[in-house]
Amino acid sequence: MSTGYDELMQSPIALSTQAATPHTSHASTSYHHMSTVVLTDGETTVRAVPQPGGIVDVDRTQYVLKEIHCHTPSEHTVNGHQADLEAHFVHTSAEGAIAVLAVMFDADDGRHPVDAFIAPPGSPPTTEQLDKIVPKGSKALRYVGSLTTKPYTDEVEWVVFTEKLPVGRQALDAFAARYGPNNRELQQVTQHQVTYG
Ligand SMILES: [Zn+2]
Repeated sequence: MSTGYDELMQSPIALSTQAATPHTSHASTSYHHMSTVVLTDGETTVRAVPQPGGIVDVDRTQYVLKEIHCHTPSEHTVNGHQADLEAHFVHTSAEGAIAVLAVMFDADDGRHPVDAFIAPPGSPPTTEQLDKIVPKGSKALRYVGSLTTKPYTDEVEWVVFTEKLPVGRQALDAFAARYGPNNRELQQVTQHQVTYG
């Protein structure tokens, strides 16, 4: 487990599907044993904590879902686009390795499943809503970076899905009024090796 801070491996970064090299292994995004999600009001965002956590495999390492939280606007950019919202699914392995799955959302006028994850605590999202905020089958950009909040721990496996989902404008505006902007600024691309597929 890394508890280090490597200034050459920081996140977020500007991602490009054209500049990335192809990867062959796909991250599985099927969660198991998900029951309920508890929302807690954090200092900088709303945290959704699954009880018990779901499981995802990334390159044959099994990770357990620990937390879902959101940033507005998005932290990563994809092909120069900054999305309105970026959800982070934070996972850890039995060995203490960290993997974060990132999903991008752009605002529209309807109501959408992710709205429940950025709402004030009190009406927890359902498992069904959790299932709907992962773009299954989406391609993803992958690289090794860091946490984007303190302590900025390095050796974090990032899986940034390129298929975007919608977020309700009303829910987004309320979240942004309370917490926004809560995105870390883009970090310089140095030793990051980005793959796409
Ligand atoms: Zn985050």
